Amino acid sequence: MGIKDLLGQEKVKARIQEYILSGNVPDSIIMNGNNPYEIKNFILALAKALNCLNIEHDFCDECVNCLEINKEIFVDIHSFQPQGVFYKKEQIMTLLEELQRRPLKGKKKIFILEKADSLNESSANSLLKVIEEPPLDTFFILITRNHRALLPTIRSRCHLLSFKNMDVEEIKDYLIKKDWSKEQSEKVARYFNFVSIDLSDIDYESFNKMLNNIFSLLENLLISTNDYDVLKQFQGEVLKKREDFIPEFKNLLSLILLYLRDIMSLYIEPEGSKIICVDFKDRFKEFKNILTIEKILELERLIFHFIGNLNINLNINLMSLEFFKRFILIIREKNV
Ligand SMILES: [Zn+2]
Repeated sequence: MGIKDLLGQEKVKARIQEYILSGNVPDSIIMNGNNPYEIKNFILALAKALNCLNIEHDFCDECVNCLEINKEIFVDIHSFQPQGVFYKKEQIMTLLEELQRRPLKGKKKIFILEKADSLNESSANSLLKVIEEPPLDTFFILITRNHRALLPTIRSRCHLLSFKNMDVEEIKDYLIKKDWSKEQSEKVARYFNFVSIDLSDIDYESFNKMLNNIFSLLENLLISTNDYDVLKQFQGEVLKKREDFIPEFKNLLSLILLYLRDIMSLYIEPEGSKIICVDFKDRFKEFKNILTIEKILELERLIFHFIGNLNINLNINLMSLEFFKRFILIIREKNV
């Protein structure tokens, strides 16, 4: 496979191909987009293009560098993400120290900063100094969902690659080509822009199971009289391996948000033609009787609050418990 085989994002692909053909890859790039898995596939491709031993018009995907990058064991890729709300000063120091060293194996050392909008002013300024005059053999990728939240001075030093939300038809065709049935492809495609889905590594059964589990969780949150049982189900759902926790919990929050929006859409169009999660349409109509518009808005605010604070994540148990408690409280409040 090569750059040309990446799914969708034709404009981003064309830019990367241009960089490679001209031999003129910028030192620093901002990747702006919503799906972390999609961005990751593009980063791996770009890393291969920069380090492939047989590069011509594209990387070979066969040399030792390409293979190690595929396995994510390549020593010259350094990835950072904020510890807490912001990057810590020590992390930037580590980055600056690493910058002094030559690449061990590759042609270029690659520094990836996830959630680059979480650089506070002082870390952003330290970074700016190196981005302005980076060593020849280094390359920076800053990932963000909102490039406007980065310091203007940083933005002006980086090339911007913007990932658009994927077209539903595009995803459907991609899955059908992988021998998925039309119904299954359509269903995953409908959800794609709302939940983080790794298309290169998705199986329908577990995807569908996730949708149903989280639906049943919402159902219990809304109608169960035994909060303890719901709590157990909730924790069973989110308390998995720690490294999976944040993406799983985030998907859980995003899905509940999507379900709530579907219920909200019934206030505008009672027949349900605007509903995205069509499998649950009839149940959503029942839930509408329990959830006023005010409550849905309040629950949305709660979810956004937790999504925004996921990285603080001091204690997984406490965080999920707190979310659950506040969610129940809002639902149990008397309607006004
Ligand atoms: Zn190669």
